[in-house]
Amino acid sequence: MVPMISVQEAQNRIISNFKRLEGMSIPLDVALGRILSEPIYSNSDLPAFDNSSVDGFAVQADDISLATENNPVTLKVIADIPAGSSPKIVLKNGQTARIMTGAPIPTGANAVVMVEDTQSHQIAVGSTAPDAVTLTKDIAIGENIRRIGSDITFQQKILNDGRMLRAQDIGILAMLGYSTVRVSRKTKIALISTGDELVPLTLPLTPGKIYDSNTYMLAALAEKAGCEVSNIGTAADRYDAVDKLLSQAAKTKPDLIISSAGVSAGAFDYVKDVVGSSGSINFWKVNMRPGKPLAFGSYRNIPFLGLPGNPVSSFVSFLVFVQPVLELLSGVTTKENPQVKVTLSESIESDGRESYLRAVIRKENGKLFATLTGHQGSGNLISLVRANALLIIPSGVKFCPPGTEVDAWILEN
Ligand code: AMP
Ligand code: MG
Repeated sequence: MVPMISVQEAQNRIISNFKRLEGMSIPLDVALGRILSEPIYSNSDLPAFDNSSVDGFAVQADDISLATENNPVTLKVIADIPAGSSPKIVLKNGQTARIMTGAPIPTGANAVVMVEDTQSHQIAVGSTAPDAVTLTKDIAIGENIRRIGSDITFQQKILNDGRMLRAQDIGILAMLGYSTVRVSRKTKIALISTGDELVPLTLPLTPGKIYDSNTYMLAALAEKAGCEVSNIGTAADRYDAVDKLLSQAAKTKPDLIISSAGVSAGAFDYVKDVVGSSGSINFWKVNMRPGKPLAFGSYRNIPFLGLPGNPVSSFVSFLVFVQPVLELLSGVTTKENPQVKVTLSESIESDGRESYLRAVIRKENGKLFATLTGHQGSGNLISLVRANALLIIPSGVKFCPPGTEVDAWILEN
């Protein structure tokens, strides 16, 4: 008898066979979306030097503390400080220096007056600095100066191990001078599909045949999770055909082989036998809907996961069983499908298995409400296409009235 186990039990049995992948160094310009394999600490203060946050005039604040429209103060311009320069001057009382945004504050200055607050109003492109500037307002010490270390101090932790790098993370790494960064190696997945009925998209359909959609969908899921995917192909429902394709998959030396279909109890479901003959296989009925049949084991010492063939079962099984493995392998600390609480807008019936139901959730008055996207057959992919969430109905629950609060996974991206 094939044992029926809980989702949690199946997840635990699978995940205990994996450990995090090693890190590798890659150039920063290809690091978007990759997972840091070590924390990042700042190797300098940021800003690295006091600099001006505006185009204007660097001053000593006490020179203009009494300045008003009726009592303007004129300061002598002794230098011009463009961004990228390194001023050697020392500002004394009665003196100012024209300064551009990002340029170092000269010694002696303790504030910068914006050009808009001077009589010249703006700095004409290409103009030389004036001999003097007249000011009609006082200024607080420190105004318009970005102080050294005010954003980040030396050796401060900037990014955690396991961070998925976003554009702004790449920006700060560049700001700190990292030209390379250590990230988790990409998980290598070999993907196979099985089924006599499957036709590649390049060929016309003949009676009884269907297009192989799982290969494309599972590859997309794995790529979205940051994997390197080898699509090995499709095998007919014959022992030798499945064996040949699996051995091809093993030759790509993947971290995980994923198969679609051929793992149920049908007369032509050879995948379990083939895997078992060159490794080990566990076949479980998992107490879930959709996606009851699930095979897990190893083929030629490579972990193997056999997902069911029905497209929605395949997708849900990937999220439930493969996604946690991929998250462990990469070390990523954020979830691909965040879990939220939602309130049912309609009643839901379930058969008592842990159910993952396709739904649309929307916000009303700050609360999330869920409605199913139609009939929940495991081959009905359009209801998954229309969904932006999967509702998780726990095992043992057969009926939920409207207003019931349930967990849901967001499928927005
Ligand atoms: P099986 O798991 O082999 O019993 O297949 C279950 C259902 O999934 C059948 O209706 C198959 O035709 C369908 N199926 C199997 N493989 C695929 C695939 N790659 N793409 C789309 N549907 C599939
Ligand atoms: Mg089949």
